[in-house]
Amino acid sequence: MRLARPDLVVDLGRIPGLAGISERDGDLVFGAMTTKATVERSELVRTRQPLLHAATRLIGHPQIRSRGTVGGSMAHADPAAEYPAVALATDGWMRARSRRGERTIRAADFFVGALSTALAEDELLVEVGIPALKPGTGWAFTELPRRHGDFAMAGTAVTVDLDPEGCVADARIIVFGVESAPARVSSAEAMLRGERPGAAVYSRAAGAVCDAIRNPLDDIHASGDYRRHLAGVLTERGLVDGVGRAVPQAVGS
Ligand SMILES: Cc1cc2nc3c(=O)[nH]c(=O)nc-3n(C[C@H](O)[C@H](O)[C@H](O)COP(=O)(O)OP(=O)(O)OC[C@H]3O[C@@H](n4cnc5c(N)ncnc54)[C@H](O)[C@@H]3O)c2cc1C
Repeated sequence: MRLARPDLVVDLGRIPGLAGISERDGDLVFGAMTTKATVERSELVRTRQPLLHAATRLIGHPQIRSRGTVGGSMAHADPAAEYPAVALATDGWMRARSRRGERTIRAADFFVGALSTALAEDELLVEVGIPALKPGTGWAFTELPRRHGDFAMAGTAVTVDLDPEGCVADARIIVFGVESAPARVSSAEAMLRGERPGAAVYSRAAGAVCDAIRNPLDDIHASGDYRRHLAGVLTERGLVDGVGRAVPQAVGS
């Protein structure tokens, strides 16, 4: 993109130990160089983290997924990239390493703006942790690109927990591709808590999502107003699908 003119380019591809998927303390842990194709083919991801699996299948095309890496997506931090949205929706984390040592950065603190992250210049992203989805939690990953495989003009990642009565115990709504970084919309989540799911509630939450968008991207692909509108529509669709997949259960189970 010619945004940077590096004097030196380091190939991480042959560094041992930077690729692979494992499970640790309920989290799926991805070496930074794990390709998206590996994530897509992983039975562990498909069964334990279906939100991530669904998002992976929407990234570009098979050729892109076989070269692009989990760590590359997080470090690159494109506003419309799917993985940062999943990391926010699931309370994921990034493990960074430098000569000074290692540190863990929560996804909520990692994505600071368009193509900007909390990584320092001397830090290498070595691992990405995505907590497995709790059994019974509903989920949905929706987006709208101009053509299949393009970057999305807007998208949402939604998770929903229902209490034993079928009311919303908890919900998470992440909007991406709309502003310079993916964002969690707590005001919309609060409108859902304690409510019985239904069209009117979804519509109110979608309205809160639209209201929360202050500086939508406005470019050749879509105007800011259209992106805001899409964010609302995709929130409603995400809630319908997310609630449809949720299983009512006792809080904390
Ligand atoms: C045609 C096309 C369509 C695409 N469509 C989509 C899409 O729909 N959705 C989507 O999310 N992505 C999309 N992508 C992006 C793609 O999925 C890759 O994530 C992206 O190209 C980065 O590739 P990479 O993993 O090889 O990282 P690189 O290109 O090697 O690196 C990207 C940036 O991250 C830094 N970086 C990489 N790894 C690390 C690390 N471990 N530690 C610190 N910094 C690091 C690099 O220095 C660089 O600044 C598309 C790309 C193309 C070319």
